[in-house]
Amino acid sequence: MTLDTYRQKRDFKVSPEPAGSARAKAASQQQRKYVIQKHRATQLHYDFRLEFNGVLLSWAVPKGPSLDPSVKRLAMQVEDHPIEYGGFEGVIPEGEYGGGTVMLWDNGVWSPEVPDIAAALQKGDLKFRLDGKKLHGSWVLVRTRGFGGSDRSWLLIKHRDQYASTQDIVADEPRSVKSKRLLAEIAQAGGGNVAKAATGDPVEPPPVPSKAPSRTKKPPAKKTAKARS
Ligand code: MN
Repeated sequence: MTLDTYRQKRDFKVSPEPAGSARAKAASQQQRKYVIQKHRATQLHYDFRLEFNGVLLSWAVPKGPSLDPSVKRLAMQVEDHPIEYGGFEGVIPEGEYGGGTVMLWDNGVWSPEVPDIAAALQKGDLKFRLDGKKLHGSWVLVRTRGFGGSDRSWLLIKHRDQYASTQDIVADEPRSVKSKRLLAEIAQAGGGNVAKAATGDPVEPPPVPSKAPSRTKKPPAKKTAKARS
């Protein structure tokens, strides 16, 4: 795995995206980075990235992740990205590869639920755990030959666990984990196309979450499932 394809597609004199260090640092075995970037390019998609062997393995997920285990989300594998890309939020100039606005939608660490990551990738069945700010618990990426026979087609699926739910996480949490901004606000600050970026934001965005939510109302008392004898 190299970053050649990543670098060939980009002009780093024009785009603020990182070129990546010449030599990838040895990946820490304990703390592998995980990141999802919401990217309003030609099409809105979510770039799902897992650190492995000194690069970020990358998949473009058009609809973003779903917390519902019955929902399978198409994930097209794209070129490996440099580790530093995981910190990128900003505007890629129009006309450049991936031109548009990039938001750091989620980040954290991931850990494999398989003994051999390389073998699981080759097999096309990678089970893993996410410990992000938005996503948690057990997930799987499974390769499918169903979409035109491309070996780059995978499905991203939530496993059943305590973090599975029917909540629409991409609609409910549209802001950056880095800056709390929406796509339009990132585009505005970076001199990008605000109107185009805004098409990736919800029509009525929820308010910016505060760090210490004020609790004016007490939540309703939980119904206990105590059996009466
Ligand atoms: Mn992208």
